[in-house]
Amino acid sequence: MLSIPLPVAAVILLLVLAIGCWECWRRLRLAAAALNAEKRRLEATLGIMFDPYVITEAVRDAGGRVVDFRYKDANPAACAWIGVDRDRLLGRRMLEIDPAVATTGLMGILADAAERGLPAAVEAFAFPRRADGMRCLDIRAERVEGGLGIAWRDVTERRKVEAILERRASTDELTNLLNRKEALGQVEILNRRRGRGLAALWCDIDRFKLVNDTHGHAAGDAVLKTLADRIRDCLRSTDDIGARIGGDELLILLNGVNGLEDAMNVAEMLRSRAAEPIPTAAGPISVTLSIGVTLADPDESTDALLARADDAMYQAKKAGRNQVVAIAASQPA
Ligand code: GH3
Ligand code: MG
Repeated sequence: MLSIPLPVAAVILLLVLAIGCWECWRRLRLAAAALNAEKRRLEATLGIMFDPYVITEAVRDAGGRVVDFRYKDANPAACAWIGVDRDRLLGRRMLEIDPAVATTGLMGILADAAERGLPAAVEAFAFPRRADGMRCLDIRAERVEGGLGIAWRDVTERRKVEAILERRASTDELTNLLNRKEALGQVEILNRRRGRGLAALWCDIDRFKLVNDTHGHAAGDAVLKTLADRIRDCLRSTDDIGARIGGDELLILLNGVNGLEDAMNVAEMLRSRAAEPIPTAAGPISVTLSIGVTLADPDESTDALLARADDAMYQAKKAGRNQVVAIAASQPA
């Protein structure tokens, strides 16, 4: 049998151990380098992100409840949005930097996400930023170790644009009243709600074609605009609706009327206000309205309601114009 002298065996053992240690050290270095590279990649990604992003740790009270967050990291967009340099931000508490986090209820949402471990996604959160007032934020928060990673997007300007587009799609350009499509949709919604009296006032300008023919189309437009203003004055609550549903046809929906008489009083008031002379570039113009009034029956369709209001208006025309005619809901049209 081959026997290895003891010194040689010891040297071989030492060599094996040394190689093993070197390999371990080499792998550790590789892992550390990979980790550093990953960290740099993450920092670079966060650094160029348009959206603010912060990493926080939860601050708990004696009972273990999350009461605040401490900033552990923040990308440049977050520092710029918060308005505090990164060096001055890290280590500070969120409520110390901005008490509005508590007053707006955001702290409750974030604390809940941190405690329950469920991601938070909040859309259009109204938040008062010290620099420029109320902002509209989409916020995402996800648990990261002992705190939260929080990202947000300031959607204030985008929302404003969306609101403008929505408004354009739902209103009549000339009068700023709701357009026909939007009005019919709103009638459908109001009509489906139970428990409040809903009245429809269908108004048509008398002999409006003659106004255009006599004073010109621009003067006719001015008349329409002023009538729209007078209609707006007659609306009693934000639930009431004024709409232009045709060339010279205007619809008013009164939500929460106390019976037909109540609705007729509003119609009478509008009729007399509409008749007041309207100043235009072509001189003062007087027009009158024929108004049909009716109340919604609890189980009827929107079409049936509007058909009855239209019919009442038609009767007002037939009876000589410049008047209010009402048809009770239960009365066959
Ligand atoms: P009536 O009493 O029977 O309602 O008579 P009218 O002349 O008002 O007849 P009608 O309601 O059929 O005619 C509506 C007129 O409204 C036709 C058109 O000259 C005018 N008109 C419609 N849209 C506009 C608009 O946007 N601007 C202006 N200036 N006039 C419009
Ligand atoms: Mg008309």
